[in-house]
Amino acid sequence: MKKIIVANRGEIALRIMRTAKKMGIKTVAVFSEVDRNAPHVLFADEAVCIGPAPSNQSYLLGDKIIEICKDLNVDGIHPGYGFLSENADFAELAEKNDIIFIGPKSHAIRVMGNKLAAKEAVKNYDIPMVPGIDRAVTDVNEAVEIAKEIGFPILIKAAAGGGGKGMRIVEKELEVQEQMERAISEAKAAFGDGSVFIEKYITSPRHIEIQILSDSHGNVIHLFERECSIQRRHQKVVEEAPSTVLTPELRDRMGKAAVNVAKSCDYLSTGTVEFLLDEHHNFYFLEMNTRLQVEHPVTEFITGIDLVEQQIKIARGEAITFIQEDLKIKGHALELRVYAEDSLNDFLPSIGTLTKYQIPTGKNIRVDDGFREGMEIPIYYDPILSKLITYGNDRNEAIQLMIEAIQQYKIEGVETTLSFGKFVCKHKAFISGNFDTHFVKKYYSSDKLKKQHETEAKIAAAIALQLYTKEERILKIPSN
Ligand code: ADP
Ligand code: ADP
Ligand code: MG
Repeated sequence: MKKIIVANRGEIALRIMRTAKKMGIKTVAVFSEVDRNAPHVLFADEAVCIGPAPSNQSYLLGDKIIEICKDLNVDGIHPGYGFLSENADFAELAEKNDIIFIGPKSHAIRVMGNKLAAKEAVKNYDIPMVPGIDRAVTDVNEAVEIAKEIGFPILIKAAAGGGGKGMRIVEKELEVQEQMERAISEAKAAFGDGSVFIEKYITSPRHIEIQILSDSHGNVIHLFERECSIQRRHQKVVEEAPSTVLTPELRDRMGKAAVNVAKSCDYLSTGTVEFLLDEHHNFYFLEMNTRLQVEHPVTEFITGIDLVEQQIKIARGEAITFIQEDLKIKGHALELRVYAEDSLNDFLPSIGTLTKYQIPTGKNIRVDDGFREGMEIPIYYDPILSKLITYGNDRNEAIQLMIEAIQQYKIEGVETTLSFGKFVCKHKAFISGNFDTHFVKKYYSSDKLKKQHETEAKIAAAIALQLYTKEERILKIPSN
């Protein structure tokens, strides 16, 4: 593989190109009209504009990307996450055109891209599932019967859902009809597929996922877990590895289950098997994400393995050069997704120009970003600005370094989740390790964040006053 195209933008496009460059592989960027001067475009060896800003006229144009590959003699396509990364038709189109899709085969993407097909595929592997039904429901009466059987609260989920979208919690029978109608129409609009199914709503779960690595020589291993319970709108904001609650024995069982999920669909490349863990430490299979995950850097820190390098090597047909027993968890890593969102206002997207943008630097601080000072944040795409990752010998070190790094990170012009990240890192429940997916609902409110800001401002003012008085005293000392 001499030249790859990165069919993505932002932080992930840049992150992938860095590894490609390290491996001596030439890179091609694609970009929409609003991304013309984006860092991923400037970093690549070649770059091609693929259309106007809206992603359905640019980053989602699979046919056009294949044509560019042919024109520029590209050998492989890295899809990143989001956009075309979980589009089985696109992977198939690449396969047909003899261009290597750096990821799984289209078959695995198709099976795991649909939550119902995924449940069906893993059935013979003895994987624990969330209680519920494993087929689409359209009839409200049937849904009510199912709900009564599994017990309220229930969760209506879109089979084709992703990114935390297409989910509705239903507390009681009376609400089933309305919520189901909404779920179906939302699923149709967002994913072009109105199929919904029902799961028991696990009331106090943690989101624990296992990183998988699988090659074309029959080797399937796992790279331990990531804890992703700090979420808003069912989507992760803070992730860490390892999890504070997994014993070696549970890690081993969940790891084996994840390896089996990968085997059930002849998986190739990196992938993630997501589980919910209940209060009694029972785990249930949620879904498999057939791509590189947003939060993959925490795994890279604790294992020392470059996951993009592994993806490229596996795509070239190479065998994984280590075995499960070689792998050990070393230290602790924490990631904060820095979204252009207003933490004080329901995490609503915040758009604008980055009038100031300075990243924190230092040992064990990693920033994966795709923006520079002066750039505008386009409204057309996922509002992720960057990922801030810290690493320490233990969890406390990683948390303390995260707080320092957040303080060093200067972003002006848009609101971000940096302040929320600091709130999390300073919260008792997070520090204790005893929290679940309801952290935000239980402990966080904009008032609490404001209070934290006020306290910090008071402390800063007090220190400033002290310094000022001290200086005054020094200045008053007569020179002779
Ligand atoms: P991760 O599971 O890697 O933590 P997220 O759920 O945060 O990822 O989603 C990562 C990106 O992929 C986001 O841009 C999200 O909007 C997008 N995404 C995920 N699943 C889907 C899907 N089924 N359809 C469209 N976009 C998706
Ligand atoms: P997506 O494809 O959008 O990532 P997931 O099935 O992975 O959907 O679920 C995303 C999040 O929604 C989980 O991390 C969890 O917080 C919540 N969730 C999903 N299913 C359940 C469930 N049955 N009970 C409780 N929470 C759930
Ligand atoms: Mg998920």
